[in-house]
Parts: sequence; C-alpha cells; structure tokens
Amino acid sequence: MTAKSAIPAPIQAPADAAERRAHRPVVVYPNGTLPAPDMARLEEARATLEKIDEIIVPPRDGGAFEVPKGHFFRVVSIEGPQVGDLNLWNAADLSERFFSGKTRALHATHVSVGDRLWSSLPHLRPMATITHDTLAWYGWDEDGAGLHDVIGTRCDPYTNRLLSGGDYHHCCHSNLTRALGGVKGLAFREAEPHVHDVLNVFMCTGFTKDTHQYFMKASPVRPGDYIEFFAEIDLIGALSACPGGDCSATHSSDAAACYPLKVEIFRPDMGLLKDWPFPARNGYRNPE
Ligand SMILES: [Zn+2]
Repeated sequence: MTAKSAIPAPIQAPADAAERRAHRPVVVYPNGTLPAPDMARLEEARATLEKIDEIIVPPRDGGAFEVPKGHFFRVVSIEGPQVGDLNLWNAADLSERFFSGKTRALHATHVSVGDRLWSSLPHLRPMATITHDTLAWYGWDEDGAGLHDVIGTRCDPYTNRLLSGGDYHHCCHSNLTRALGGVKGLAFREAEPHVHDVLNVFMCTGFTKDTHQYFMKASPVRPGDYIEFFAEIDLIGALSACPGGDCSATHSSDAAACYPLKVEIFRPDMGLLKDWPFPARNGYRNPE
C-alpha cells in the first residue's frame, strides 16, 4: 500500500528503449487478405435502382427500417448538417448484429466505399457493403480526422449522467432503443440490450496527435449528401439523428442545432445479382 500523498516515481526507460521502439509496424489484417466484393457488379446494379420506401428520422429521435438482402439503402442529409448513429441487425435473429470493433480491425477507424460492415461473433459475415459515399472526397484532414467512424460508441444517458450529473432522454442510445422497440414490439428494457456500438454516419472524428484522445469536429455533410449500402443479408436498421447535430461542439443535450435524416430503400434489377455470393454465417465451429 502506498500513502495517499505519494507521487509515483517516473518510470525510467531501459537502455535499449530506442531499439525496442524501432520495430516496423505490421498491419494486423493486411489489405488483400480479405476477399473483396465485386464492386463493378454492384455498380451495374446501382444503375437500375428503384426507390421502394423511405423514412424520415426526426431531429434528436430515432427511426427503424427493413432492407431485404440484395437491396440498397441510403442515409441522406436533408435539411442541414447532421450526424447519424446507425445500428444493424439480422432481421431474423437480433443476436447477430453489427460488430464495430471487428469492422475497425478489418478495415480502418473510418469506413467508405468498398468497406463492409461485419456482424458479431459467432456469425462474422458482411451484413452490408458500402457502395457510394458523396463525402469520399474528404479523406483525412490536417487534424487526422475522417468521416463515418467505427471508433465511437454512441452518446448515452449513463455516460452523460456520469460526466454532467444530469439526465437526458434523447441520446442516440435511447433513440436507437426506442426505434428497435417500436419495430419489434419490445419494451424499452427488452430492446435496450440489443443496441450496440454504431457506425457514426457523417461524423468527423479522429484521435488527437498529442494525447490520442477521441475528438469530433463539425461534420462537412450538407443537404443532398448520402452514404449508400448494399444489404448482404436481410436487415433491420435503426438510425438516430444525434442530439449533437453536426457534432461541432456538444451532444447529450438540446443545445445543438439538429436536423432530420432520411433513409431511402432501393430495389435493383435483381436479375443482375442472381448469382451474387450472399454470405453464409461463418463456418468455424468449436469442437467442444
Ligand atoms: Zn449521439
């Protein structure tokens, strides 16, 4: 036991510190080891899209939608800069849901065209493939920020209470819970455990260069921008129009200017995708 007032002694670097630091970084899951989707075929299918449904997600609120496999969906900015928090589930089995951490490990901290949204263990298969992103021009800015991150979790009332002491009922976590509950006929408490770490649609984020802390800055999204996905399996989606608005300053309150988001569902000429390799659940089985 150390006395409360004791200040820990600084840790001294060993004599070979520079040598230990000099090893070359190795990408954990190198590009090229993951089978790539046939983007040319998806592009052909995109040329035949017919809109079959849409929902409007009100500001500081959530909405749910269904996308049959082989269809496409878009998250569209409509009235002003607004960030959206996206959850995805297998429409037939809520235990299979979007796995933000593995998506980050397989692709990157931020995702764009050609990247896929992977499902949780033990299913681990692509749930959706990103087929278009009008903000792909943004790339990485001078702060190291990019768009559509799979780093953040979602704003939630528990963390908000921890940090501010107050209660706020329209965090993305709660909006997503209500949206899923509404579409599946579940009470809030029943729906809540199914809500998971999100894809932060349109959000502009990174890690600070000095302290490696998660930061956000004003999203460059403008009305008309959209990100588009191809459904690899039958999906239920939920989207929250974050109370942070464009996430330029704050969230978890009614302070930021907030706008609605639109989700559009499209059907392509299904004949073009009749032999598309729709993914089965992962084949690994533990022998025990
Ligand atoms: Zn949020």
